[in-house]
Amino acid sequence: MQTLRMKTEFLPTLLRGLKPWGTLYAPVERAPGVFSIEEIGEDTSATRPDAVRTILPFKSLLLKPRFTMLARGEGGSDVETPDGDLPPRVYFGAHACDIHSLKILDLMYLSDYADPYYRRNRETLTIVGYGCMPDERCFCHSVGTSNVDEGFDLFLTPLEGRYLVTVRSARGDDIVRANAALFEPSTPQDTRDYLDRLKKREKAFTLSMDVTDLPYVLELKKEDPVWDELGKKCLCCGSCSMVCPTCTCFNVADEIPKEGEAVRVRFWDSCLYRDYAVVAGGHNFRGSRADRVKNRYYHKQEAFVREFGMPSCVGCGRCIENCPTGINVVEVFSYVRGEL
Ligand code: SF4
Ligand code: SF4
Repeated sequence: MQTLRMKTEFLPTLLRGLKPWGTLYAPVERAPGVFSIEEIGEDTSATRPDAVRTILPFKSLLLKPRFTMLARGEGGSDVETPDGDLPPRVYFGAHACDIHSLKILDLMYLSDYADPYYRRNRETLTIVGYGCMPDERCFCHSVGTSNVDEGFDLFLTPLEGRYLVTVRSARGDDIVRANAALFEPSTPQDTRDYLDRLKKREKAFTLSMDVTDLPYVLELKKEDPVWDELGKKCLCCGSCSMVCPTCTCFNVADEIPKEGEAVRVRFWDSCLYRDYAVVAGGHNFRGSRADRVKNRYYHKQEAFVREFGMPSCVGCGRCIENCPTGINVVEVFSYVRGEL
């Protein structure tokens, strides 16, 4: 790992210098305080890597929300389509929690049986991280994802008048070499300012979640009435899972778009939807809303921890921001612990 410095005024030049590695994407302000991931063209002025969170996380740059896997070709044979494959992309503005979410997606999609669509798109994604400041919905510091030292190509931490630039991969090194005029070696003062910023950032968190022994607490709370109460409040609209950077549910369906044509499509799904756990014969293993919402929380904080040794929540706050009925994951676990 190498650390460099870059003057703030060079950012537009760096953004243009990233383009040989793929189509550039970054957060852009779509409405006051509302950010989405957009393609950045020649004019880079709309780029807002400081945005605390985008509506959809950058998993949307790894798997399209919907794509065609197979189409029925001439003679009735099924032909694989390239619809799920994305051209090389650069995401500029990944925060520490975003990069941790990528590690979780890798565990889900590349362990045991690698998902070929994810794997191909993962290999062609370049990640440039950006140091953020938390808002009142961030609790990444509670789940150990507030800092990151791997899983990216470059990482820019804003300091007064310059960035501290961390180079973490061979691809990141290539980018630096191709844009060598922008960078200088970092100084001891840069390191001091970086450490000061870390301290200020740690103090800026206002929300926290107690994850101590949470899988064991959940094991003891399977029949707790809190899940029925939550089931009454949750609409099972699926918004929280669509915006979650670590939710991976998908479905595959055969469709007939018009007479004589057939396609197999794959699309994002949610375990909160009513029909998600319906099996042949019509039985629904999670027919009640309480069962479905409980399943989501147990998956993230109990089953995933047992399987992979870490929760599948990075504390990004998107589910808190987007729940139409105000369900707050931090409050849910406080209720579960009997603290509220
Ligand atoms: S966003 Fe809220 S209401 Fe919708 S499924 Fe998630 S927890 Fe339930
Ligand atoms: S569960 Fe909520 S806070 Fe945790 S990663 Fe998903 S959207 Fe973010």
